[in-house]
Order: sequence, then C-alpha cells, then structure tokens
Amino acid sequence: MPKSKVFDAIVIGAGAAGLMAALSAAHRGVQVLLLEWNLAGSSNLLVSGGLFAGAGTRWQKEAGIEDDAAAFARDIRAKGGASVYEPLVDAAARRSADAVHFLADVAGLPVHLMKIAAPGHCAPRMHATPAESGRELHALLRAALARMPGIEVVDNAEVLALERQETFSVKTRTKTYKAGAVLLASGGFAANRELLAEFIPEVAGARHIGAGPNDGRAIAWGRALGAAVAQMSGYQGQGHVNPGTGTRLGMSLPTLGAILVDRDGKRFAQGEVNPSALAALVLAQPGGVALEVFDERVHNLALRQGPYREALAAGAVIKGLPWGFEDAFPELGRPLYSSWVTGALAHTQGGLAVNENAQVVRPDGSAIEGLYAAGGSAAGLAGGGGDGYLPGNGFAQSFALGLIAGERIALLRGRA
Ligand SMILES: Cc1cc2nc3c(=O)[nH]c(=O)nc-3n(C[C@H](O)[C@H](O)[C@H](O)COP(=O)(O)OP(=O)(O)OC[C@H]3O[C@@H](n4cnc5c(N)ncnc54)[C@H](O)[C@@H]3O)c2cc1C
Repeated sequence: MPKSKVFDAIVIGAGAAGLMAALSAAHRGVQVLLLEWNLAGSSNLLVSGGLFAGAGTRWQKEAGIEDDAAAFARDIRAKGGASVYEPLVDAAARRSADAVHFLADVAGLPVHLMKIAAPGHCAPRMHATPAESGRELHALLRAALARMPGIEVVDNAEVLALERQETFSVKTRTKTYKAGAVLLASGGFAANRELLAEFIPEVAGARHIGAGPNDGRAIAWGRALGAAVAQMSGYQGQGHVNPGTGTRLGMSLPTLGAILVDRDGKRFAQGEVNPSALAALVLAQPGGVALEVFDERVHNLALRQGPYREALAAGAVIKGLPWGFEDAFPELGRPLYSSWVTGALAHTQGGLAVNENAQVVRPDGSAIEGLYAAGGSAAGLAGGGGDGYLPGNGFAQSFALGLIAGERIALLRGRA
C-alpha cells in the first residue's frame, strides 16, 4: 500500500490566523496544507471591522506618530489588568508592526493608518485596507493566498479529529491527512453554549454576532493532547449592535462624539467608552437597549468604516430621533441621526495556552512538539471579562501568532 503523503504543516481554518500562518510558512518555503470547513462561508475575519493594530509601523512614522511595542504592551496590560496572559503580551506587541508590514509587502495588501487613536490606545495604531471593512480584508487575504505558491487548499474539509503518533493525523469526513506540524486556527467557543455557561456565564445568553462555527473544537483537541487552557473568562463584547438588523455601528462613534441614552432618555455613556465593556453596560439598561445619538459630522466620519455603512444600508440608522426625544442633545449639530443598540458577544478570548513561539503548552509550560495555535483557538491578549479587551487585540494576536508560527515551522523544517 502506498504510504500517505506527510505534509510539512497542516493549518486548520482559513480565517485571520490560519491565512496569516499559511502565508508566513509558505513564504519561507514550507509545503502547507490548509483545511477549511467552508470557503464560501463566513468567519470572524469576514464580519470584523477589518482594523488591525501595529505599533512602530512605517505608516505611523510617515505620519509623525511616535509609537513602539513597549507602548502597545502597556496599553494591553492597562486594559487587561492583572489577569492578562503574560506569555503573549510582549511578543504580540513586538511583532505587531512586522505583521502589518508582512500584510503590505508580502501579501500585497494596500494598507493605510487610521488617523484617530482607538479607545484605550495611546496613539493612532489601527491600520486598515481602503474600505476599512473585514469583508475587504478577507477578500484581499484570500487573493494573497491564491497568489502564494506552496499552499494546497482543501475546501469542504471540516476537521473532525486530531491525533498524534509519529506524525499528526488530521481527520475530515472523507480523508485523513498527515503532517509534522499542525496549527489550530479554527476559532474560539463563542457559539458553544456549554463552554460559555462554564467559563463566561455573563454572556451565555447574549446575542452572538461572530461568524463561523466557533464551537471550541480545537480547544478540546488540544486538551486531549495534554494542553493547558488560559484566559477562558475573557471575551470581546459589542455595545453598538442594532437589535433589529444585527448590524453594528462600529467602535468609534462615542469617541467621535455620539451620546448614549437609555430608552427613557437618561444619559449613561459618552466619550471614550471601551466598546467591549459597553456590551454589559447596555445590557444592564432597562430593556437591555440604548439609543445612540450623533450628528452629521460623526455620521460623515463613520461612513469611512465598513460596519457603519452596512448598518446604514440595513436601515439600522435613522435620520432624526424616535418619538419622545425631539428636544434633547442641544450640543449636537443638526440634523441628528440615531440608532437603537444592544450588547452582544463578538468573540471569546480564552483558548489553548501557547508560548511566545505560538507553540501549544502543557500545564507545566513545556511545549507540545509540532502543535501550534493562533487566533480564537489560542489564549488571547485580553484580561478577564469584557472589560479586559482592548480594541484590536483580536488581530494583534491572530496576525502576530500566525506570522510567528509560520516562521517557527519553517525554521524547524530547515526551510527558513
Ligand atoms: C463582529 C466582530 C468584529 C471584529 N472586529 C475586529 C477588528 O476590527 N479588529 C480586530 O483586531 N479584531 C476584530 N475582531 C476579532 C477578529 O475577527 C478575530 O480575533 C479573528 O478573526 C480570529 O481569527 P481566527 O482565525 O481564530 O478565526 P476566524 O477568522 O473566524 O477563522 C476561523 C476559520 O476556521 C474555520 N473552521 C472552524 N472550524 C473548523 C473545522 N472544524 N475544520 C476546518 N475549518 C474550520 C472557519 O470556517 C473559519 O474560516 C472582530 C470580531 C468580531 C466577531
């Protein structure tokens, strides 16, 4: 019987972390097999705001903005508090600029810097592609994947099991694939009600606005191979979700000047509000809703961002105010715009414990040889609860760890 091919590396999941890792590894000559459940389906990458943080990038330098990894790491720790996952913070902050440069220079993405500092960041460090949307970022990364030699992509490849003997065996419904290294990049557990009830009961009943399976499977595979988990109570909430359409206004409206009132017109948030913590705050208002009110200036600025444009197109934003609020908000210009919003769960931050090389580790800190994790399948940069999430933590971890995993696999395969 012919022996089955052993790939250098298998990447499970073609989302943010998986695409970056596959590109990073293949760029260094690694033969990669990328297994994706459904290439035509959605993912957190696709529904995201498409904003990625990088500290010390050339776009910042060109704009005269002083920033570096130490400042980014400080911001992550300031938001995450004592419960932040220390093994990753410095590594992710340090490689954040490399990841943005890789996206531009190797993956060929047209990158620009957003001029405003996102809430909790000491400097403007969010980068984006022209449409400032996850949909566009996703399409551009997919196009980069198609251009990169050395990556075999299998669609309709729902991975069902992962085992390890001499090599890793990755089982799909129709085939078992073998590799010397595996990167778990199939997302978190925001759609797994049992895991939510166990680790984050405060959002177990909240609306989930992420996409893709997010069933926590990779975490179970890793644990079965002896891995530890970390940050399981962390999550990103979203306080700007329109309950009727499920679309969201984007994170920066209060920073730009929008005002949040409860359904009786009482103000409860304005200015720099952490969008993740805002989810629980809005859910705690009467009826679990709030009205977000802003003027034409804010509306025009928000139009730059994909999620806001999608909310507008879906009818989530109205020109004017609902009945009963006519004379309020004298400090805002006219005409006014408004939208009902509620709190939701965007994505989880807990996952397999990894070290600064993206290697999955056991409870004693030793690495499980050949096993890597990134994105939602791995522990994130946020502290516990929704308040510990700094905007941009998602891609900062996914892209930095994806980049690092690709480099590491190449190094160990003698391909770097
Ligand atoms: C609404 C929203 C907005 C966000 N906005 C931002 C933002 O602007 N900036 C930011 O930094 N972060 C943002 N994030 C977070 C960011 O999207 C995530 O951190 C990032 O996408 C995680 O990458 P990932 O690869 O783990 O998951 P994903 O991007 O979701 O990709 C996972 C992939 O794995 C596939 N898959 C799952 N299970 C299997 C299986 N068993 N077999 C094969 N394939 C499988 C899925 O189909 C999917 O394609 C946002 C998240 C949400 C939900």
